Amino acid sequence: MSELQFLTNRAAYLPGTNNLGVVVVGDGTAVAIDTGIDKEAGRLLRRACEAAKLQLVAAISTHHHADHVGGNDYLVRNIKDFRVYAPRREAPFIEDPYLEPSYLSYGASPIAPLRNKFVMASPSPVHERIEATQSTLTIGAVEFALFPMPGHSLAQIAVVVEGICYAADSFFGGAVLAKYGVPYAHDVNAQITSLTQVGQLDVAQWVPGHGVLTGRDAIAETLAINHQAIATSKTMVTAACGSGASLQHVVATVQRELGVTSSAMAQYAVFASGISAYLSALHTDGVVTVELGADGPLWRAVA
Ligand SMILES: [Zn+2]
Repeated sequence: MSELQFLTNRAAYLPGTNNLGVVVVGDGTAVAIDTGIDKEAGRLLRRACEAAKLQLVAAISTHHHADHVGGNDYLVRNIKDFRVYAPRREAPFIEDPYLEPSYLSYGASPIAPLRNKFVMASPSPVHERIEATQSTLTIGAVEFALFPMPGHSLAQIAVVVEGICYAADSFFGGAVLAKYGVPYAHDVNAQITSLTQVGQLDVAQWVPGHGVLTGRDAIAETLAINHQAIATSKTMVTAACGSGASLQHVVATVQRELGVTSSAMAQYAVFASGISAYLSALHTDGVVTVELGADGPLWRAVA
């Protein structure tokens, strides 16, 4: 079982596929920043805190993706008066996780292969909604600084405590980018702005949701790799549109170019949703057009 790694007196994290934040807010009490993909992740987080003589009292959910909020339900059920904080626009998806596979299905009732923990967390209440304009949140003795980092998700936030930035999915580690090729986004251009902003925070270290703890000496390079991955993805998607291609065709072309395949429907749906975000951004940029043909929308690169 992994142990909490303390970065300052109060700020710690539990390393893993999903790095989870833990901040000491009082005498023996702590707040989690994200809770992992499922009940087991929630349990391991709780145990790691108990091993450090800390009782979790709350979680701040940075955004609604299942791998960040899946442990909430276990913690709410098993810890008395446990409270969940989340951005107002992310909260509905956390309270009703059926919405995530629904939007991955063009709004349809999701098929069974899309109703699993990778895209549908257990539902969790959100006790306090964080407003878009809110810059701080006080829990116990700690004032958390909050920074909007939209793009990867609707209204994702980063959280800063004692010079440590819990960056959520505002950027990814190099190995994660190499594995997936196209960084998942809801709004690619907002994601680019957030990438710049997360690097400008006056902090000593960044804890990404997926990747390694990143110090000031390495952040510029890591963010540059992220900017590059987005720029490459834009170029690849534009080229895949060519003189007219459907979303499915663009997805297939990009996957072929990257040498990645989706092994399950949920994985494919997430990848296709990300490509859809690229098409949307490229359309806004005036780089691609879309026309409704007899077989549906055809995306075309502007010559
Ligand atoms: Zn995410």
